[in-house]
Amino acid sequence: MVLKNNTLHSNENSRLKSVGRFFREAFTIDFNKPLSIKNQFMVMFVTLFISTVLFGVLCFINNTQVAEPPKQPAKPTAVQSQKQTSRQESSQKVILNTELMKKVDIISLPYEEIHNGELILVNKEHQCTHNGESVVSLLNVKTGTYVVADASVSVDQGIVDNVNHMFDDFYDIYGESKVMIACGYRSSELQSELYEAETDREGEDTADIWVAPPGYSEHQTGYAFDLDLMVEDGGIGIDYDGKGNYSWLNENCCQYGFIVRYLEGKENITGYEYEPWHFRYVGVPAATYIMENELTLEEYMDTVQKYSIQKPLMIKGINDEVWYTYYVPAQEKDKTEVPVPQNYSYTISGDNFSGFIVTVTIS
Ligand SMILES: [Zn+2]
Repeated sequence: MVLKNNTLHSNENSRLKSVGRFFREAFTIDFNKPLSIKNQFMVMFVTLFISTVLFGVLCFINNTQVAEPPKQPAKPTAVQSQKQTSRQESSQKVILNTELMKKVDIISLPYEEIHNGELILVNKEHQCTHNGESVVSLLNVKTGTYVVADASVSVDQGIVDNVNHMFDDFYDIYGESKVMIACGYRSSELQSELYEAETDREGEDTADIWVAPPGYSEHQTGYAFDLDLMVEDGGIGIDYDGKGNYSWLNENCCQYGFIVRYLEGKENITGYEYEPWHFRYVGVPAATYIMENELTLEEYMDTVQKYSIQKPLMIKGINDEVWYTYYVPAQEKDKTEVPVPQNYSYTISGDNFSGFIVTVTIS
């Protein structure tokens, strides 16, 4: 056994010596002679080794980057997200408010101007001072997607395009062209006749529910109209109820600047029964806000009065438009100085009883 071990040791020693000799000779390079096979093998081996190490290091660095992306803030919860959004909105609001205030012009308006504009409130308390100064007959300016009762049906010339667009779009969707504007502008005299006829027929109390006294009808503004449905055989129209396909008009009219003026459940505010056929133009921003918040025009007036140019009411449109609106109380004995932004387009309307409403288009 001992001998055997000795023999083994001797064999191992000689193998180790020959491996050592191989490496020694491989690493020994005589630059005056061409490289030996062993030298070439070693150069290749070393090159391969270094390349492998470098490749490994690069992969490690790369993997480290993928495995550990830059730290992101934790995903906000719904509440945080809401807070963040409102914070963003409020910061946007601050920037825009500052912007709004930065360069203002002052428009001086006489007190009587409170009676003009698309937002004038006409109801049983607030009389209409207009008498058809700027109305036009729809018969010659309307498109073919709706009908009018006769040539006397007129509206304010400023809203003709809005009326046409609304019925054109309705026709494009449903192919219905039987909607009829039965009545638009009504003069004080005509209103007087209607009121008297209704009073004779139903008594004053009932007449008051359905027909405005002369001077107090919205129809006198030129911004309101009543719908009916045309009967094919040429008979008289049938009542428009805003149901079925026609509900599209009642639900989308705000996009064209109209509201359904007398709402169900708001009779105590408007003073009138629900009238799904009576539409009123107030402009797209106000109509959008009114419809979205299910308000009457009376309630919109109460709301807007709380806002000033320093703190305007922001209204968002369904197509991401942004408007700001604010109120300026009128001076009864002097001209009212209405501040308006220089760098944005705006409209000013009287409210018909106490002041002016400025509506600014932001985007
Ligand atoms: Zn009406």
